[in-house]
Amino acid sequence: MRSIQEVWNAVLQIVQNDAGISQAAFELWIECITPVAIEGEAFVVSVPSVFQRDIIEQQFASQLTSAVEAAIGLPLSLFIRAEDEEQQKAEEDTMDDSLRHDLSSYYKMINPFYTFKTFVVGPTNNFAYATAQSVADKPAGAYNPLFIWGGSGLGKTHLLHAICNEMHIKNRQAKILYTTCENFTNEFLIALNRQTLPDFRQKYREVDILLIDDIQFLANKEQTQEEFFNTFEAVKNAGGQIVVTSDRRPNEIATLTDRLKSRFEAGMLADVQPPPIETRILIVRSKAEQLHFHIDKNVCDYIARELKTNVRQIEGVINKLHGEYLLNGTIPTERSAEEAIANVRNDNQPVAVTVEKVISEVSRTMGVSVDDIRAKGGNANIKQARKVAAYIIREITKMKMEEIGNEFGGLDHSTISYAYKNISDKMKKDTTFKAVVEDIMKNLKIGC
Ligand code: ADP
Ligand code: MG
Repeated sequence: MRSIQEVWNAVLQIVQNDAGISQAAFELWIECITPVAIEGEAFVVSVPSVFQRDIIEQQFASQLTSAVEAAIGLPLSLFIRAEDEEQQKAEEDTMDDSLRHDLSSYYKMINPFYTFKTFVVGPTNNFAYATAQSVADKPAGAYNPLFIWGGSGLGKTHLLHAICNEMHIKNRQAKILYTTCENFTNEFLIALNRQTLPDFRQKYREVDILLIDDIQFLANKEQTQEEFFNTFEAVKNAGGQIVVTSDRRPNEIATLTDRLKSRFEAGMLADVQPPPIETRILIVRSKAEQLHFHIDKNVCDYIARELKTNVRQIEGVINKLHGEYLLNGTIPTERSAEEAIANVRNDNQPVAVTVEKVISEVSRTMGVSVDDIRAKGGNANIKQARKVAAYIIREITKMKMEEIGNEFGGLDHSTISYAYKNISDKMKKDTTFKAVVEDIMKNLKIGC
């Protein structure tokens, strides 16, 4: 088995011998590169600074890419990370006018592989796909705002980036601003603190299109919601397009102000749902093809059958199998796929668990309706189901007690703490009950 360092050493040798790079340039620019990993179709390396990265990208990218292909035998793109990028970004953010007219740093947040072409369309996402494409073709046309919602790992971020990529190709001058809700909130709070709101507003309001990912995180943040509402109005009134994503419909985002809910509901709502088996098979094939990686039909089908609700996991499994193939030549089999699937499922990385899923799973298992669980009051069964849901949310998400309370018609912090303790005590005493709760959690984790 070849380690990533061994593969990289082979790359270096090729560069040194064949690439026509002088010894001086080699020592200055190539030796500072550290191999990191093979991720999907990219060979990821890192360098200490953004400056070095830019030079390497401009001067040596093609020689390095060819050397990687020669060393591995397959075309991979070279992805260079700069270790000081985060720091540099943070510094830029604190400079009052640095970002005023410079939106280019935001293109760095856009994944160039997330395009309409690489998105597999099926019956559960075709509407979202079509509306996203229509927005990219004709921003601020029929679908404004566009609100894309659905569970984790189903392509919402992919579609947002696809809009950005498409618009950017069509019009290099277009002012495209993509950010996450979390980023928006942080930048707003910094601007508030440093009294640089005019800069913040200029940046967010003078755009042709504003795309905000995971808007559900606005819930509970009153001041940020107010700012977002005003941003929304300003962008729209100036003829700009708004696109947002969320893990649920607007009217299910507890504590989102009514005026924002109604603005979103008045626009175009498009959902993405877990794809059916036929689409999943196409996704597996398409992801493998993008990597120029052959996976036997029975293995493709196996992966598609096993991973039902989260495309991110499908991708994770294929990347893992591909990595094994590149490093030690292992041809994927059902057996190795099974292992990779078990790995992905055990990973604690973004498990596709949303509040909505927890509640619907509790509802299904405990026979109480979702609406009853979400409302206050009710009979003993309902209360029990609500407590179980609160307990599970606390266990498998990082939400605070108070945020959890908001999901249940505004229960306060102490009620949720009490529910949590009550359920953990009961689980200690009653093994059948414990098994029920654990079963729900297991189902959620494996995405049933
Ligand atoms: P979300 O934002 O909904 O949580 P992402 O857009 O991050 O999900 O998607 C997770 C991964 O799955 C991404 O790598 C994305 O490219 C991939 N993916 C999701 N849906 C599709 C699809 N229909 N076709 C191709 N890839 C997809
Ligand atoms: Mg996302």
